[in-house]
Parts: sequence; C-alpha cells; structure tokens
Amino acid sequence: MKKLQGIGASKCICIGKAFLYIVEPLEINDKEKDNISVEKKEEILQKSIKASEEGIQELCKKMKARGADKEAEIFQAHLLFLEDPIITEKITELIGQGFSIIASVSRAFEENVNAMEQMENIYFRERAKDIRDVSERLIRSILHKPKSNLLSLPYPAIVVARDLTPSDTASLDKKNVLGFVTEVGGITSHTAILAEALGIPAVVGTKGIIDLVKDKDILILDGNDGEIIIEPDGEALRHYKKKIVRIEKEKEELEKIKFLDAITKEGKRIEISANIGRTEDAGIALQEGAEGVGLFRTEFLFLDRTTTPTEEEQFRAYKTVLEKFGSKPIIVRTLDIGGDKQIPYLNLDKELNPFLGVRAIRLCLMRKELFKTQLRAILRASIYGKVRIMYPMIAIKEEIEQANKALKEVKAELIKENIAFDKNIEVGIMIEIPSAALSADELADYVDFFSIGTNDLTQYTFAADRTNQNLNYLYKPLHPAMLQLIKMTIDASHKKGKWTGMCGELAGDPELIPELVGMGIDELSMSPSKIPEAKKIIRNL
Ligand code: PEP
Ligand code: MG
Repeated sequence: MKKLQGIGASKCICIGKAFLYIVEPLEINDKEKDNISVEKKEEILQKSIKASEEGIQELCKKMKARGADKEAEIFQAHLLFLEDPIITEKITELIGQGFSIIASVSRAFEENVNAMEQMENIYFRERAKDIRDVSERLIRSILHKPKSNLLSLPYPAIVVARDLTPSDTASLDKKNVLGFVTEVGGITSHTAILAEALGIPAVVGTKGIIDLVKDKDILILDGNDGEIIIEPDGEALRHYKKKIVRIEKEKEELEKIKFLDAITKEGKRIEISANIGRTEDAGIALQEGAEGVGLFRTEFLFLDRTTTPTEEEQFRAYKTVLEKFGSKPIIVRTLDIGGDKQIPYLNLDKELNPFLGVRAIRLCLMRKELFKTQLRAILRASIYGKVRIMYPMIAIKEEIEQANKALKEVKAELIKENIAFDKNIEVGIMIEIPSAALSADELADYVDFFSIGTNDLTQYTFAADRTNQNLNYLYKPLHPAMLQLIKMTIDASHKKGKWTGMCGELAGDPELIPELVGMGIDELSMSPSKIPEAKKIIRNL
C-alpha cells in the first residue's frame, strides 16, 4: 500500500481499478528504407487501414449514441481521408521505391498536410489537423501501438494520466469512468473545474503517480482530501467505505434544503447561482438548486470541434439554457479563450506567456467577427429568458468602451434586420485582474454589474500560474491581499448602486462564504455540486 498526496478537485470518493492513459509520442524516420517485399508491405498496409477504419467507425457510433452528431461527422470525414486515392496511391508509389511502410505512410500524409497548411482558407487549414490525426492512427495501427482514448474505457476505472486537457475531460466515458488522477494541474485549472461540474471524483497535481501505478491496480481516490491510496490494505478499505457512507448521509441532509433560499438568520438573502460550461450543465445546476447562472463559460461551446460554432449553433445553445431557467437570470460570459484554453482551429499566435497574452476580451477585440457573432447570438436568444452579458478579463475602462461599441453595432444591425432582442439587456464585467479591482470605483460607471473571478484574481495578484502545481502554495484565498481586493470591489460597486457577485472557485468555499456574506456580496456562483452546502452555511449564519 502506498499513499500519495495531490489536490482534491471534486468532493467525492471512489474505489476502483486504475487505467493508465499514456499518450506515447511516435518517433518516425521518414527516410527509412527496408528490404521487406512490396507484397508484404501492401498486406500489412491493407490490414492496418481496415483496423483504423473499424476504430474510427466505433468512435463515430459512440458519438452518435451520446447524441453528439456534430462530432460524429468529424470522424466520417476521417474515414474519407483514410480512403483518399491521392494518399493511398502515393503510399503505394513510395513503397515501390523501397521506403519502409511507416515512412511511406508518413510522407504521403504529410505531403497533403503541408499543402493544406499553406492554404489561406481556414477550412482547409483545419482539415490539415484531421489528416494528421488519421495518419497517426494508421501509423499506430501498423506499429500495434494504438492511442488509447477516453471515450470508451475497457473496464470501469479510475483514469490515471499525466494531464488531461479540458476536451479530454469533457469527453470522458461517463459510464465507465469512476474518477481521475493527474500528475499535473492545479485546483483552478479548467480540467479540475470541469470534473467538479461533471461530478467526477478527481485529484490533480499528484506528483509521481504515473511511475507508481500499473493498469488495474486498486486505487482509493479521495477528492475531498486529495489523497490517493495505491493497493490499499483491508483497514484502509474499511475506513474509506465508512467515509463514503458518511458522505452519502450528509448528501441526503443537503437534499432537503437545496431548493430553499439562502437567507441568513438576520434576513439577508444571497443569490446562489451555478457556473456552467455546456448546455447539459443547465439541468444539473437546476437539480442542485441553482437560482440562476452566474457564469456561463461559453468557450466550452468552442471545444471538441474543428470549426468555430456558427451564430445559429451558439444561438441554439443560449436559447436552450435560457428556456430551461425560465425567469431565472443567466450571465453569459463572452469568450474567454487563451491561457489554458487553447482552441487549435483559431490559429492563435504562440505566446511566451499565454496567461498574460491575447486572452478573453483582448482576443475578442482583436477578432471582432468572432466577438460580434457571439454577441448577435446572445442578443437573439435574449428574448427567451433573462440574460445578462459579461466581459471577461477587463483590465481598463477602454476595453469596456470598445466592447460596448461592438455591442451597439450588433444591436443596430439587429434593429435594421427587424430581429427582436432584449433592449434593456444588462452588461457587466468580471473583476479578475488586480487593476480592475483597484479601479472598481471608476469601472462601476461603465457597467450594470460586477462578478469577481477569484481564480484569475488570485493568479494575477500572486503572479502564480493557476495551472502550475508547484505554485499551489500561493493560492491563498484568505490572504489579506485577496480579501482587500474583494472588499474594495464590493464597496466601490455598492457605492454606485451596482450589484456584485462572485463566480471564481472561492465563491463555493465553505471557509470563505461567511466572510463574503459579511462583506456584502450579492451573489455567489459556483459549481452546481457545491450549491446545497453553500445554502446550508448561509442559512445557519
Ligand atoms: C475566474 O477567473 O475566477 C473565473 C471564474 O473565470 P475562469 O475560471 O473561467 O477563468
Ligand atoms: Mg477567469
């Protein structure tokens, strides 16, 4: 039995078998020649193409079964690349010249990839990534080194990985995944946040786990305390089974109060809302007692795809959430891409410091078409419920002015086209950069509301990358520096009669909730699973 300490990222415990998710890089020598006969190589090639085809079809079927028809189409396209005569004829030609089968496949596909990468049109540049994906699949099949994927696990398992991207996490096989442990990542990485939203037990930042665990080892994963126990003894198993029962009991008690208002004994009501990232989260949030959405992270609509969602697709997503929530308010945050949320098809420039780079509103103001399409979709959806728009990563007032200018232009377009929208839509900003907190007094004149994003506010206040597990010691939510910035923001907004919520992870921190209520916060928005406990704490204040 071995114990490892990571960071608990989702408050559940699970016991199960490990599944190692290791993506081994391929080493390819594309100049390699060999003496294997052409016939033998053709035979291996055909077999591998068939196996790859089956793999892709399987993925396609799984996506459709999950109702992800759009994603299924991506894999249909992969099948076409696999059979593309230009590529297959090139492979045969190279095999005929004595190149090894791997070198032939790699060269034939790369030729196409390079040609497409040079093209102006984004659609073609995007296809280049798909072709490379197909090429890798075929090469892995020839080498008998398939890349495991998390869409379908071979047995119910706790996934052990070096890291999981937000899209890996979003596409986890929910039927078979019991939980996950990663070597890297901090508590406020988007992967951890997604785990919490999906209610998957998770521990991140568990140094050394990959070297210590083998497939099918029994693990105890405690998302509460961030503890991982490898091959537990009888006593540890008994202890954790009891702990699971105790947690279940606490959950039953919370069930009873989760739909009640969060009112203190003195009669002060705090709105308790949910942070969501996907339309499916809306139902989960309502089930947990959310009184609205304090943060709709719209960038998640841009993940797991190869092209930007159209205005129509975005409109449908916002409309779905608004209709689900009826008259309850939804704060739709405009795109926050960049930092740890990279979207390959947007072809963002490589940056030395992505968290300090062209992220969120900065990107939107540079890519106006992207921003305006989103604003149009939000405005069109605004007649289906109560929506408020929120700009992320505002550092100075000029950014609000520019964003509002774009919003005004989009409104004018809609009026011209006779398209209805909520003319009184409120606009707010996230306070997540120290400069914004320090000038909240001035910024309040430009907005209807604030929402404090403590994840980034902590990162930028302590100059500590939020995804770097070596710097977790700098996540000091109760540090006077943070509390002062929060208090300044609330006071400044209230002085101007403006509403201030909080949507960073701190909003759902049981330790801090009483203090935030004392400071006068109007709303706390958190992962849906944290809502019942937050309500319980406030009702007892
Ligand atoms: C925050 O920074 O606190 C926040 C809520 O935004 P995100 O975590 O999406 O960056
Ligand atoms: Mg943020």
